[in-house]
Amino acid sequence: MTFAIPAPAITTIPVVGGDPFPVRRIYCVGRNYAAHAREMGHDPDREPPFFFMKPTDAIVPTGSKVPYPSQTSDYQHEIEMVVALGKGGRDVPVERALDLVFGYAVGLDMTRRDIQGAAKKLSRPWDMGKGFDHSAPCAPLLPVAQAGHPTQGAVWLKVNGELRQQGDLSDLIWSVAETIAFLSGLVELFPGDLIYTGTPEGVGPVVKGDRLLGHVDGLPDLDITIV
Ligand code: MN
Repeated sequence: MTFAIPAPAITTIPVVGGDPFPVRRIYCVGRNYAAHAREMGHDPDREPPFFFMKPTDAIVPTGSKVPYPSQTSDYQHEIEMVVALGKGGRDVPVERALDLVFGYAVGLDMTRRDIQGAAKKLSRPWDMGKGFDHSAPCAPLLPVAQAGHPTQGAVWLKVNGELRQQGDLSDLIWSVAETIAFLSGLVELFPGDLIYTGTPEGVGPVVKGDRLLGHVDGLPDLDITIV
């Protein structure tokens, strides 16, 4: 097939022991750990999960030098477990939701907090605070065959060797299965979709030169440097 302009490249994520994973869409869950909801000034009651998106080509592989983004002076880290879907569906029941999962990875939901904060105040969309270039670093995927379906385990982020964020998967307000089920009622999910599952407490700013090391127990680490 020929196109009117050169076709864009397919965004992929490396898979441990396998072929690269093609990324379709990136969904993100907001406020999915109680302590983080509180630090952002919200009541962590179990309100329904809410979602926002990042552009697919915001993915950045581990080992990258990530450019400090434009139009912000409050560029923040959010360490998160990422779920990669190998199957799709709509209105998927919770009991079957994990059947859709291909694997898991460590990701960062990088955020221009000042732009996001201004949008919140004005009841405007978050997109430019969340969905900008290079805003979705993601480590290699570990397939379910090796990763299982993690429901507990440490989640942490170090900046220049100093612990900044620390939580546990068991503290997720909405489990992976519940999140998939809920999201599949809002949109049809497809193979290649990613879900960033939310961040524990301790979010904060980074500057040029900072090295970010992200970890979820049992998964390959994520290591990036801001330049
Ligand atoms: Mn997040």
